[in-house]
Amino acid sequence: SLTLGIVGLPNVGKSTLFNALTKNDVLAANYPFATIEPNVGVVELPDPRLGELAKIFGSERLVPATVSFVDIAGIVKGASEGAGLGNKFLANIREADAICQVVRVFADDDVVHVDGQVDPLADIQIIETELILADIQTLEKALPRLEKEAKKNKELGPQRDEAAKAQAVLDDGRTLFSAKDSLDFSLLRELNLMTTKPFLYVFNSDESVLTDEDRKAELKAAVAPADAVFLDAKVEAELLELDDESALELLESIGQTEPGLHALARTGFHTLGLQTYLTAGPKEARAWTIHKGDTAPQAAGVIHTDFERGFIKAEIVSFDDLVEAGSMAAAKAAGKVRMEGKDYVMQDGDVVEFRFNV
Ligand code: GDP
Repeated sequence: SLTLGIVGLPNVGKSTLFNALTKNDVLAANYPFATIEPNVGVVELPDPRLGELAKIFGSERLVPATVSFVDIAGIVKGASEGAGLGNKFLANIREADAICQVVRVFADDDVVHVDGQVDPLADIQIIETELILADIQTLEKALPRLEKEAKKNKELGPQRDEAAKAQAVLDDGRTLFSAKDSLDFSLLRELNLMTTKPFLYVFNSDESVLTDEDRKAELKAAVAPADAVFLDAKVEAELLELDDESALELLESIGQTEPGLHALARTGFHTLGLQTYLTAGPKEARAWTIHKGDTAPQAAGVIHTDFERGFIKAEIVSFDDLVEAGSMAAAKAAGKVRMEGKDYVMQDGDVVEFRFNV
């Protein structure tokens, strides 16, 4: 399954957030290299629709979709030159499907900042620069080879040209992701360039920022087209120790209506280009993870590979139509249930039953 790799400068709250993600109680030390081995934290994608489906179908249990985060060892300046944890760090990032950078916005005199001051955009720049430099190095090695091969094999021309275009973007100090509309990533795929990965920024904020819509809009705009989430990692960790009522009180005390981890799961899902479709029956109401743009047979294949191979058609009703009708039978009577074939592109909120041959 797809993962987001958590990165960030030391002391920005990565371990604190990761602990909240895993509910593990790993020591969140005020120490630059506290997180060394990569670990995976899996969070559920909150989906109130499952509860509603369970009511309609009498489902015994709810199975939400999940999002996986990999905790990647701390980055330092000079990582792309192989200093310190650099090489391992870069190798771990290469394996992640998206980059999730935790950025410190919270003020706290007791927590040392590596650069001596809290400056979110400068922190983002440091990591971006390391990743850009690593990609430049990759291209410096790959381009001469591509040039040579393209002379012998004309078919490699577009690949060489795209790599040269990518190099120009990187030389300009920009990530390839930020130039995604003008580059053809499919031609760059085998180079495994890190800045083609989608970015998600988690702004680890305190109450003053969480309740400051202008400040949040400003930071959001500064990182676009990357995704952004604002949360207080320390509060997120505390929430897990509380019952629902006290948790809500704590959230309200910092001007929030839901846990930041919920927003993080939803946004992470978006960053990875994923969406869900729903199935329901007496046993379970379930959300299944697919890529945006997947067809009905591909969606069926997520349940079982035999379902994709033997796909005949999908019986689909949109969640809203189903809820409005109140039951599957009523939705059918109202003409809201469609039969879709193998070319159908799945839509968010589709409630599905597949017909297949095995
Ligand atoms: P890491 O080095 O990025 O993994 O950072 P840690 O998660 O170890 O956090 C470093 C220090 O900052 C710890 O003392 C945390 O308790 C503290 N910290 C983390 N998140 C927050 C936050 O949102 N607010 C405040 N005030 N402190 C935080």
